[in-house]
Amino acid sequence: MAPVAWVDVTHAHRPTAEFPQHLESLFRDFPFDRSLAQDPLSCVIPYARDRRAAEVAGLLAATLAVGNTTAIRRAFGDLEARTGGDLNGFVDSRSDTNWAGAVPGFRHRWIRGDQIGYLGLRLKRIYEAHGSLEELFLEGFELGGFAGGLQRLSLELRGPVGGKAPRAPPGYRALFPHPLEQGQSACKRMTLYVRWMVRRERPDLGLWTKVDPSVLRIPLDQHTFWIAYHLGLTSRRTRGWRAVEDVTAALRQVDPVDPVKFDFVLCHTGISGDCPKERDMTVCGPCVVRPDCLLWKGRRSAA
Ligand code: SF4
Repeated sequence: MAPVAWVDVTHAHRPTAEFPQHLESLFRDFPFDRSLAQDPLSCVIPYARDRRAAEVAGLLAATLAVGNTTAIRRAFGDLEARTGGDLNGFVDSRSDTNWAGAVPGFRHRWIRGDQIGYLGLRLKRIYEAHGSLEELFLEGFELGGFAGGLQRLSLELRGPVGGKAPRAPPGYRALFPHPLEQGQSACKRMTLYVRWMVRRERPDLGLWTKVDPSVLRIPLDQHTFWIAYHLGLTSRRTRGWRAVEDVTAALRQVDPVDPVKFDFVLCHTGISGDCPKERDMTVCGPCVVRPDCLLWKGRRSAA
């Protein structure tokens, strides 16, 4: 394949003109099975045959996606054990009076059982009103594009601020940021959730068939942000929504149909330790994106 011209707008550090080929090579040879076993998505895949259960499992797993992947999968397994694996039943049996004690004593990092119980109640109300989380996302998408879709999901998951409905427990609403509010969070967990639901190719589930994968935005976690910055896909030092748009636009130049397909590979290059995040010739030597990496700019061998 001939090198694709790289359209640079503002970046101080740019990848090489051959970056698309380098990235496709990284993607093609990546050990997906090794990394999928570590990824929280592996918790959701067993529910894929039941679309609603998969939506719920995905949202629980994405909400818990803070910290290392082993702890995330352990926390999801704890919820699974407490619900007997019946996630639809967990949602359907929530009420205004029983949500707070739905998973007593549950904790993962700063996420508590009462927050998970309230999330179950919010999901029940959303399904009653909208039928699916995809329909809710699409309502927002039609008004405000991808960011509008995330905003719609976020606001409904947070729940009402007044009226007779139960109020969200402390800290709950902060679990669901959206990109159109002050602070412009990268919204990593929600973009990750939507990627899982929308992308048709491995490792994702492709359950939201009304959303085109080309509109997805990259879930910019710390690993993805580190490598994206060092490959020159963004020049921003803050991991916020603008960096999400930069990186997604850069990846769209490589694959306009499915730009976020590279997320899993970029993220797990960091999680697995394949990328040491420092100049180390024993590891960096065979790295196919080394010609594009800021750490190796102007260098051909170990310094
Ligand atoms: S060259 Fe090294 S530091 Fe740069 S992306 Fe590759 S493995 Fe990471």
